[in-house]
Amino acid sequence: MKVGIVGAGMVGSSAGFALALSGTATEIVLVDVNEKLAVAQAQDIAHATPFHSATKVSAGDYDALRGAGIVILAAGVNQKPGETRLALLERNAAVFRQVVASVLAAAPDAILLVAANPVDVMTDIAARISGLPPERVIGSGTILDTARFRSLIGRHLGISPQSVHAYVLGEHGDSEVLAWSNARAGSVSVDDFAAQIGRPIDETVRARIDDDVRNAAYRIIEGKGSTYYGIGGGLSRIVKAIVLDQHAILSVSIRTDRVEGVEHVTLSLPRVVGRAGVITTLHPELTPAERVALQRSAALLLDTASAVQV
Ligand code: ADP
Repeated sequence: MKVGIVGAGMVGSSAGFALALSGTATEIVLVDVNEKLAVAQAQDIAHATPFHSATKVSAGDYDALRGAGIVILAAGVNQKPGETRLALLERNAAVFRQVVASVLAAAPDAILLVAANPVDVMTDIAARISGLPPERVIGSGTILDTARFRSLIGRHLGISPQSVHAYVLGEHGDSEVLAWSNARAGSVSVDDFAAQIGRPIDETVRARIDDDVRNAAYRIIEGKGSTYYGIGGGLSRIVKAIVLDQHAILSVSIRTDRVEGVEHVTLSLPRVVGRAGVITTLHPELTPAERVALQRSAALLLDTASAVQV
């Protein structure tokens, strides 16, 4: 499958790099308003690719996206000094108006995979602009937060993150909800397994993992300015689930009819992902406190998304 990436900055190029090495796509095309950047990123990624896969990597204009099955939207503008979050969102919505129209003119059947931040709101905007059914406009959402959550639980329990089943729900951001109550090590609750091996998950451990998941991005930004390898890996994982029609359960963001009483809100829940995009959504059983937190996250996101005109 051909995969397009619009926005060849740090996030778009990291996604392209991870995807090219994985060999999942037959072809990757990078598009950017800065054509020189797109060409340079494509060449750099193409030079690494033959060591790992036969994926063809190039740069092009929107026309080069013809036939793409997935297009990753990683284009955006950065915050100006003194600019409010809403003003920035409105400028990014303007970028998406132009980008989404151009992408769909070339690749009307593509699944849109949104990576631009704030990802839930940008996914909502892309869904509204495109008029596509929600299952075809997917935001990377909490895929990365979920991966961090699993890694930290796995490390505490001495097991592989792949053997931890746990999800971060809601916003990819401050109001996200770590669903501890249904976190599992294999088939048993993480609490039971932790007690069994003499490493209980007490309040201190829980608070440390919560803080690590919630503030990981802030810490990385402090050290290197922005985050991109992690999300690049996450985007590559979502593309693989779609290309191979895996029906994998991933925490990704789409417009959802109803979440804890909040209607038409775009946020992350565990969802089955395959060739058609999001095939179905799981609604995990939560404790009353987790439900309140998810309701709050949903309400916050709906408020922000509704404030942006498309
Ligand atoms: P990030 O860290 O989110 O990747 P960057 O600033 O590195 O942020 O990348 C964003 C990219 O989006 C830039 O390369 C920029 O040129 C690109 N971009 C901005 N506006 C548009 C647009 N209208 N069409 C295509 N690309 C765009």
